[in-house]
Amino acid sequence: MSVERARSPFDRLRRKFEDSELRCRACGYLNDDGGWRVTTTGSRVRYQHVCPKCDNIETRELRLG
Ligand SMILES: [Zn+2]
Repeated sequence: MSVERARSPFDRLRRKFEDSELRCRACGYLNDDGGWRVTTTGSRVRYQHVCPKCDNIETRELRLG
């Protein structure tokens, strides 16, 4: 049995994020195995990715609603 999730604009944004390449802006390293770390605070969702090569932290923030 599968649970179908409602498709919201946020879901689509998240998909776009998770499908996008994780390329470090500092050193250009492409992290194929990496993923975003997601934290939610109130109506904001923060995505963070730490580059394994140079420890640069990429941060993106999405607003819900
Ligand atoms: Zn890097």
